[in-house]
Amino acid sequence: MPSGFSWSELGVDSARIHVVKEAELPSGRREFVLYWCMVNHRAEENHALDAALALGNHLGLPVVVYLALRPDYPHASERLHAWALEGMSDVAAGCASRGVPCWMELPRTADEHVARLAELGRRAAIIVSDLFPTFIIPGHLHGAARAVQVPLVAVDASCVVPMQRVATLQAGAYTLRPKLQKLWPEYLGRILPARKPKVSGHRLHPEFEPADARAAREALGSFDIDHDVKPLAERGGRKAGLDALRTFLQSKLEGYDTQRNDPGHSHQSNLSPFFHWGNLFAGEAARAAIRARGTDHPAVRSFLEELLVRRELGFNYCLHTPVPRQLSVESLPAWARDTLSAHQQDRREHLYTREDLAAARTADGLWNAAQRELRERGRIHNYLRMLWGKKILEWSPTPQQALERIAWLNDKYAVDGRDPSSVANFMWVLGLHDRPFQERKVLGKVRPMSSLRTADKYDLGPYLARWARPEDAPVKIKRVRRMAAD
Ligand SMILES: Cc1cc2nc3c(=O)[nH]c(=O)nc-3n(C[C@H](O)[C@H](O)[C@H](O)COP(=O)(O)OP(=O)(O)OC[C@H]3O[C@@H](n4cnc5c(N)ncnc54)[C@H](O)[C@@H]3O)c2cc1C
Repeated sequence: MPSGFSWSELGVDSARIHVVKEAELPSGRREFVLYWCMVNHRAEENHALDAALALGNHLGLPVVVYLALRPDYPHASERLHAWALEGMSDVAAGCASRGVPCWMELPRTADEHVARLAELGRRAAIIVSDLFPTFIIPGHLHGAARAVQVPLVAVDASCVVPMQRVATLQAGAYTLRPKLQKLWPEYLGRILPARKPKVSGHRLHPEFEPADARAAREALGSFDIDHDVKPLAERGGRKAGLDALRTFLQSKLEGYDTQRNDPGHSHQSNLSPFFHWGNLFAGEAARAAIRARGTDHPAVRSFLEELLVRRELGFNYCLHTPVPRQLSVESLPAWARDTLSAHQQDRREHLYTREDLAAARTADGLWNAAQRELRERGRIHNYLRMLWGKKILEWSPTPQQALERIAWLNDKYAVDGRDPSSVANFMWVLGLHDRPFQERKVLGKVRPMSSLRTADKYDLGPYLARWARPEDAPVKIKRVRRMAAD
């Protein structure tokens, strides 16, 4: 970090800071501190915005928030653009209410985008961005670091316990959980107050024509993106996220521990896209659940396990695994790698193409229903998501191809995709963060899951009524039940 101050003097937790570009503060007059907001689309309880404001106040400079949306990121579609723009529109409103200028633009190419960052970098004293250890974000940060001469830091506004507090790759939830639990007293109740800017930026001008997120949302047809993946009926953004959190606490938290896994009951929170796009901070959702029922309520304990342990396990995996190796069988634990390799030549009962899978054209009616939910609702019920991934592993020529298909299908359609939780769970399908099971064909010792057993375990009637189609193979529920009764 530039000499002359420390993060703790500024009231910023240094564990959240990752220095991307080490440089001295520029000696000449600069106009602002820049928060280049890539991931955390919220103006409230955003540690990156807070760090930018702390720096601005210290240096006697205003803060400017800069948002950009390009059409060329992997899987860019009307669905993803819509969610991004809805979030950005709420960021603009949130910044306005905090007296922070928010400049948005829609660069068409990487060159345009990098040139803009270089230009803003010549006006800024320092650039703050988001620490998000997967997808295109690390690459964007390193590209920007080459283009600017000022310090560039990435701030963790995603995890409740800053991901850098756990310094090593964890084998599973069982090793991460006790480490996080030790740190929860320090972090769980910590509310980030809304720091006020000491210097107003209202006279600053972007020196480019800023875009309007709301108008862009209405003009999705004009972008060079995938127009077949349609926006969801559900809206993205901060306001929608807070509404979804309220609905969850009021009507779904009770029973979450016993019914979350049951696809017939809708007891999941449905909050994952809001966390992925940073519309909500996981800490505020955790605190709200604790306020609603108390820490010891079984539903709250179960929700915190998912939100704080399982979710942060994904960040741990991505933080400690370089992006090119995150989706590789080579990054699996040795037992999983070895067993999958030993069974690579086993005959598969079905082999489908990626296109068959995308079109939900398999002999498994339940799988087809789950794939349709993914295509149309932008995610899959958690239990069926596990089954969905396991079947792709069984039905692909090699484990590596299975991984690539799971990632492609999930990230193309899922509004919560392209996230550390996506990456870690794709890898979980192949054995990451898991243990060996009894050996069988194709999967070896990797945990199996069966559509037949799922259908027998849960009442899938309501789920199939919503997502199955007449052309699907019937889901064999009664046969298994009868056999059990015989
Ligand atoms: C093959 C596969 C792909 C997946 N892809 C994604 C993805 O792209 N994005 C994504 O966010 N999650 C993914 N998951 C994890 C999990 O299925 C979703 O987080 C969960 O279903 C989201 O629904 P919810 O918000 O209602 O979850 P809830 O049950 O209400 O859980 C609350 C929050 O905890 C977190 N969480 C819950 N389960 C998990 C988990 N297993 N791992 C990590 N975090 C979890 C999420 O942030 C979630 O919003 C995937 C799981 C599998 C098996």
